[in-house]
Amino acid sequence: MTDCIFCRIIDGTIPADVVYQDEKVLAFKDIKPAAPVHILLVPREHIPSYNDLEARHSELIGHMALALNKIAAEQGVAETGYRILVNCGPDAGQIVYHLHYHLLGGKPLGS
Ligand code: AMP
Ligand code: ZN
Repeated sequence: MTDCIFCRIIDGTIPADVVYQDEKVLAFKDIKPAAPVHILLVPREHIPSYNDLEARHSELIGHMALALNKIAAEQGVAETGYRILVNCGPDAGQIVYHLHYHLLGGKPLGS
């Protein structure tokens, strides 16, 4: 997907501040951070939104959960706490239609 900004980050066409990567996922700093730690975790596969997850993605979903766990520790927020969220669709304000998890922390986040 050449018109997808996160696919272009994955293929290296657009630069990003990458903090973690493996064969299935890539994680990089959000360009407009809402907290001192604001990381986006994306699957290398172009999956437009949470709605598009299928049974065949079960292993990937578990992989992303554990990657987020690891990234939280590496970013130093495992003990202080963090929030993981996914925006899905217009009412959630999803802007980029390539599935991504936000990992936020480094300050009290409120409710
Ligand atoms: P959303 O789709 O609402 O979950 O938000 C997309 C997020 O991607 C926003 O927090 C943006 O700041 C972030 N974003 C957009 N373009 C880039 C980019 N080139 N590098 C890093 N983060 C980005
Ligand atoms: Zn994409």
